[in-house]
Amino acid sequence: MTPKIAQYLRDSAPATPCLVVDVDRVEENYRRLTTALPLARVYYAVKANPAAPILERLTGLGSSFDAASWEEVQACLAVGARPEAISYGNTIKKASAIKAAYEAGVTMFAFDSEPELLKIAKNAPGARVYCRILVENKGAEWPLSRKFGCELDMARDLMVQAKELGLDPYGISFHVGSQQTSTGAYEGAIARVAMLFTDLKEAGVKLRMVNLGGGYPVRYRQEVPGIDDFGMAIMGAMTRHFGNDLPEMLIEPGRFMVGDAGVVSAEVVLVSRKGKDDPVRWVYLDIGRFGGLAETEGEAIKYAFQTPHDGMADGPVTIAGPTCDSTDTLYEKSNYRLPLALECGDRVELLSTGAYVTSYASQNFNGFRPLAEHYI
Ligand SMILES: *Cc1c(COP(=O)(O)O)cnc(C)c1O
Repeated sequence: MTPKIAQYLRDSAPATPCLVVDVDRVEENYRRLTTALPLARVYYAVKANPAAPILERLTGLGSSFDAASWEEVQACLAVGARPEAISYGNTIKKASAIKAAYEAGVTMFAFDSEPELLKIAKNAPGARVYCRILVENKGAEWPLSRKFGCELDMARDLMVQAKELGLDPYGISFHVGSQQTSTGAYEGAIARVAMLFTDLKEAGVKLRMVNLGGGYPVRYRQEVPGIDDFGMAIMGAMTRHFGNDLPEMLIEPGRFMVGDAGVVSAEVVLVSRKGKDDPVRWVYLDIGRFGGLAETEGEAIKYAFQTPHDGMADGPVTIAGPTCDSTDTLYEKSNYRLPLALECGDRVELLSTGAYVTSYASQNFNGFRPLAEHYI
């Protein structure tokens, strides 16, 4: 938690549950990234937190944006981002959305299949396109599985076809999975991209760009490698495979940019036990899976908690949300422990929750309002 957030929570005690984001920390994260990877252009993955104060600050810093929908493209334009600084990075787009973005001046589009490529050729003639390939997601705590990307031989044929369709075959992208804790994942993916560059050069298509995607991790309960470690591994692999013919490099950080800039403040609604001698207490908060903590699904992302009783004796807990749905149980198997003194009405903080929280909150399930947000 940044000192600014701590002071805000102390002085303003905003109603819970809410997310408080320190926008200065977002700026620091942007600078840390550009220092670790000075040759890469930053395309912030808007979906991680699309709030205007964040987009505004990043625009001012010269960041570009990775948008997943026409609505996200509009959110970037609304804060003054130039359309040429927006990449339409979702490989699944409606024809009408491609057309709207193209007419607004967006010139870069992702695809991973022939039907999508044809859609782009028709609705965004002459646009720069890049193909997303499948890569290993091992080491990622929130993997993206096989939903996005295609095999290398298919990517090769599609890039040749892109040229034939009058599009600009710009480059290749991948995503090693979110909260990726292994620097080796990027090295493996870069090796695959380099093979494709070689194949396509032989086929008469000279690619110019590698989009390294997101994945850069945030510290939750466990230590993770620092952004400098990722920068070094990535630059090492790039020079190993491309020598002094380095292509343009793009990165699309989402979680890293905003994760540790935010804190969810919540209230303990109930502490109870299922049996008189049951050692495990159930701790119910006023935020849960449907209040925005979607990444607790499968206990994948394990947030760290702060309570007013930290440092005192603790015991095992199951942590759950307030709604009438049993899937609204956050952590049952991840060995969470909280202070024995914890009681109803206590305020607790969930640390590093600036990414993938507000945008996942449901509308009104059980009548609970979407998560309140404060940008300071
Ligand atoms: C979600 C996403 C990102 C951001 O990923 P993080 O793991 O949050 O850094 C980047 N690029 C694309 C295409 C994405 O879908």
